[in-house]
Amino acid sequence: MERIAVFPGSFDPITLGHISIIRRALPLFDKIIISIGINSEKSSMFSLEQRLSWIRKIFIAEKKIEVTSYGGLTVDFCTERNANYILRGLRTSTDFEFERGIGQVNRKMASHIETVFFLTEPEHTPISSSIVRDVIKHGGDVSSMIPEEVEY
Ligand code: ADP
Repeated sequence: MERIAVFPGSFDPITLGHISIIRRALPLFDKIIISIGINSEKSSMFSLEQRLSWIRKIFIAEKKIEVTSYGGLTVDFCTERNANYILRGLRTSTDFEFERGIGQVNRKMASHIETVFFLTEPEHTPISSSIVRDVIKHGGDVSSMIPEEVEY
């Protein structure tokens, strides 16, 4: 059976932290589906099309990666796509508490799906999409936090 993982997130925008997690996870899986969750209650800075197009550009040469979006529950999307793994990154204890809740609820809803966590590289710990958005809003330089493909 193919080992398929879904990496769900907002990726608003994708950062060097996300990319590092994806690259480190690649040897473990036959396929990683990077999927932007469509959340009608959460407004994004960048459009869905823009976010998808940046991620596709970054991983254009990577045959094991698919980039898409989904609505509804992550576990339902995983089941639909035969993915038995959810990939997430952990930066801090706050991330841990948040991820523990989601991970345990997901496991209750779909016991065939395991969440796999990667600890962030130390240099990526302070990077988050929300900080990147804040710095952009105020005209600051985010070049050390995002890949060059993210042109806005
Ligand atoms: P969400 O809206 O689901 O939190 P994000 O795009 O913010 O989506 O994050 C997706 C995943 O990537 C989460 O597991 C998050 O913890 C992880 N992540 C975000 N930034 C980093 C980083 N700098 N290093 C490692 N993992 C990260």
